[in-house]
Amino acid sequence: MNGLYRALASLFPEGRISDDEAVLACYSADSAIPPGSATLPSCVVLPKATEEVLHLVQIADRFRVPVAPMARGSNIAGMAVPLQGGIVADLRLMNKIIEINKDAAYAVIEPGVTFHELSRELKKAGFFCHLPTAAGGSSPLANYLMRPSGNFAAKWDPDPVLSLEVVTPKAGIIKTGSASFETAGWRARYHCFSDLTGLFACSYGTLGIVTKGSVKIFDRGEEERLLLTTFDGFPPALEYMKRIVRRNLAESVTFWTWGWNMFHEMMLSKSEKMSEEMLKSDQRTPPPGIPFGIASARLSGYKEVVNTQENVCIKIARELGGDYLENEEASEKYPGCYRYLHSYFVEGMLPKPGEESQIRAGLHLPGCLLTAEPSKLIEIEKFMWDLAEREFKPPYFFRALPHSHAREFFFAFVVYVTGSLIEEREYLQHLKGIYGKLYRDLLRNYGGVMFRYRKDPTFFATTCMYGDLLRRIKKLLDPNNIMNPGMLLF
Ligand SMILES: Cc1cc2nc3c(=O)[nH]c(=O)nc-3n(C[C@H](O)[C@H](O)[C@H](O)COP(=O)(O)OP(=O)(O)OC[C@H]3O[C@@H](n4cnc5c(N)ncnc54)[C@H](O)[C@@H]3O)c2cc1C
Repeated sequence: MNGLYRALASLFPEGRISDDEAVLACYSADSAIPPGSATLPSCVVLPKATEEVLHLVQIADRFRVPVAPMARGSNIAGMAVPLQGGIVADLRLMNKIIEINKDAAYAVIEPGVTFHELSRELKKAGFFCHLPTAAGGSSPLANYLMRPSGNFAAKWDPDPVLSLEVVTPKAGIIKTGSASFETAGWRARYHCFSDLTGLFACSYGTLGIVTKGSVKIFDRGEEERLLLTTFDGFPPALEYMKRIVRRNLAESVTFWTWGWNMFHEMMLSKSEKMSEEMLKSDQRTPPPGIPFGIASARLSGYKEVVNTQENVCIKIARELGGDYLENEEASEKYPGCYRYLHSYFVEGMLPKPGEESQIRAGLHLPGCLLTAEPSKLIEIEKFMWDLAEREFKPPYFFRALPHSHAREFFFAFVVYVTGSLIEEREYLQHLKGIYGKLYRDLLRNYGGVMFRYRKDPTFFATTCMYGDLLRRIKKLLDPNNIMNPGMLLF
């Protein structure tokens, strides 16, 4: 380790390298991995340029030491925690917005850029980026590379990444998409050859370190509007979302159950205390006077078109038994919900830092995050309520949103754990045990696919030849398996 540290210290000046235990401890835990439960990394480095990243992975490869890339560390599944020790490559100082190309509607960014930073600059330029309902301090590039759920996944493809620059241990620096042609710019995902950007999507740092990438940006339009509709059950809400997306009436739509909406209210009040209503034992039925859920849609474009789209959406909602909420009524009745959704869907900014910390005061557990075909999702919803009543402690709730023209839906059934990771260790272990089998059951019975890889090699094995081919590609890029081996993908 001394030799490794010396080699790295010749590359990274003081202040951008550390083996201080207190510093390393911060990198060995996240919202899913309790402090003290994982091995400490040997050191952390903070590169500023692609060449530094290249030298870093070359040194690590020579010493056969794992490297865990971390953009902003806000994933909720221990994906950037170096579970097999080694080096953490903290990319927060690679935080340049290199280009906002208004002509071709893309931005070139580094992995350390945050949603807050990108959204702020895009807003000035009259553009908008795909937003997850994550923390504004997380990285668009890291998030997009995990096939995000979020506001533009409904109408557009849920994958906003175009071209990439990636550093790999054996193949050096690779550029994908139009950027591979040097003179073609960063505008396209692929041209006349195979889509290699896709190879790095959902690879979670196991094939290389992405040092820059171009991402899709979207014209804000003359008018941007939030449309809120309440529903008394999930099937009509699902049908509503399907129709308004398929028929080109909304750019995005998400359905949030009552518990999630109450959570939005908590964020506004900055209260850490949950109401009795939120903790009630029958989570399937909302408290009296509260709708089962709210669908929030974003409409944008020319005012005249948006007016018509809004009217048609209201008509469809009525046909399905939904109730349109005037914005004024919504902001009075559900102020936190309205403010949060408006900020996210219309202003194009994630909640402000104060509100983010509120999100972190409680812990979202990825109880079950998957994608499935619309009709199967109705069966999955029933299955999940039954399971939750047997195994989960209140509160738990879900949201759903269409992906890619409503071909499939993203579904997140989450448990809100109020105690600390240490206090709730036993309960968390119990949940972990359930999820392992759950994902395989949901795949077998409903064709529902795990949204993000959850360190379950048996799940990867279900892909047969696909996994086999990926393993061969991995051998070419990283034969010594130094890239984020703690993900247990390879
Ligand atoms: C409260 C909350 C709500 C959330 N809601 C949503 C949501 O609605 N939709 C959604 O999609 N996500 C959501 N997330 C998840 C979260 O936003 C993403 O996981 C996050 O955006 C990833 O960005 P990050 O910077 O934090 O990445 P990190 O946590 O740093 O990294 C994520 C993974 O990518 C790898 N990685 C990071 N950077 C690179 C790189 N440059 N090259 C190669 N590999 C890299 C890491 O090794 C790790 O495996 C939520 C998270 C929180 C905390």
